Amino acid sequence: MNLDFDREHIWHPYTSMQDPLPVYPVKSAKGVHIELEDGRRLIDGMSSWWAAIHGYNHPVLNEAVTRQLGHMSHVMFGGLTHDPAITLARHLVGLTPEPLSKVFFCDSGSVSVEAAIKMALQYHQAAGQPQKHRLLTVRSGYHGDTFAAMSVCDPVTGMHSMFKRVLPQQLFAEAPRCGFNEPCCEECIRDLRAKIETHHQDIAALVIEPVVQGAGGMRFYSPEYLKMARDLCDRYGVLLIFDEIATGFGRTGRMFALEHADVIPDILCLGKALTGGYMTLAATLTTDEVAAVISGGTPGVFMHGPTFMANPLACSVAAASIGLLEVSKWKESVMRIEKGLLSGLEACRTIPGVRDVRVLGSIGVVELQKPVNMAAVQKQFVERGVWVRPFGTLVYLMPPYIVLEEELKQLTDAVCDVVSREAASDGECHDL
Ligand SMILES: *Cc1c(COP(=O)(O)O)cnc(C)c1O
Repeated sequence: MNLDFDREHIWHPYTSMQDPLPVYPVKSAKGVHIELEDGRRLIDGMSSWWAAIHGYNHPVLNEAVTRQLGHMSHVMFGGLTHDPAITLARHLVGLTPEPLSKVFFCDSGSVSVEAAIKMALQYHQAAGQPQKHRLLTVRSGYHGDTFAAMSVCDPVTGMHSMFKRVLPQQLFAEAPRCGFNEPCCEECIRDLRAKIETHHQDIAALVIEPVVQGAGGMRFYSPEYLKMARDLCDRYGVLLIFDEIATGFGRTGRMFALEHADVIPDILCLGKALTGGYMTLAATLTTDEVAAVISGGTPGVFMHGPTFMANPLACSVAAASIGLLEVSKWKESVMRIEKGLLSGLEACRTIPGVRDVRVLGSIGVVELQKPVNMAAVQKQFVERGVWVRPFGTLVYLMPPYIVLEEELKQLTDAVCDVVSREAASDGECHDL
């Protein structure tokens, strides 16, 4: 594999083209293992960013792709439809709470957030309230890298300063402070309440990741916060958008994180684990009511339609992935992983330089006081036979659900070990 060519010509995520961090060439991946070109096998602690929940190269998912390949890999979705899209939509409507019954397929998580935002804007326009055009969100959120999605990412850890001339100015309330197991007090919701009370005439929707804030800080918060947010949205005619792109499909111990709160949004974004990590696909679901209002207004249609909308290969593998979840004991696996993460990461708590250790479902987070030195830390993890990719001050694990106890132990041991070395040194590198 020509790494010089890669270095010279290929942009990796959030990377300099002048001074890129090293990348590790991968030959193949199977089960919980990523095999490097040089033959080293790494236990995957990342599920390729929340996605590969069943592990890699799964026979059932492979079969779904190859079977569909024999029929067609893609046809346009304008004026045509196909069984993979219908089967997948049926699954999604069945799995999500009842009023969410209309499915819009798109090609990535960020685009599903764009579609959700457009739905909210078109809804209010059709309802005769075009002045409701701004978005409300909370700090420490992450919703993707396209412009509208970026405008609701955390203004500090996101990219607001760089793009402020073109980004729409949205409203930011304080991030929820109440912990996952804590009640949500009036104090915790005060800022959100104040923002809605003051600006509701302008606000189209509240956009929020339910229970788990992912790439904006890996924070967990009280499901009660969402109940209170739902009430506020109802009272002030604000739509509620849940971004479950990271949390969907079991990661937090429930099929969807919204189930912790028993709160139903008006619009729901799904992605990442939707295809079991096989290819890019996302979906934006909404209620009969939102769909009816949009369709009853002018121009009477929803104004979005990606070229690769409802790609049949992606829909087939997504339906197969959901089928696998349904027949597997995913909940027990996630609970087993939660236990393993809790016991395995406990030792990190007493390491100097560690600010917090937190676990929810199959997500384990060690937050440091200082950002890690990415290049050094990455190398140490690879040397320990694991694939863990920290960002900033956060070293975290979210392995595929099929991870075995001893593999999980190897992951948590590596995290504790590398974190204690890192804490002893002086990390300064901020790259992702
Ligand atoms: C990853 C992510 C996105 C963006 O999805 P892409 O497929 O990377 O565009 C949006 N929201 C959340 C919560 C995510 O974790």
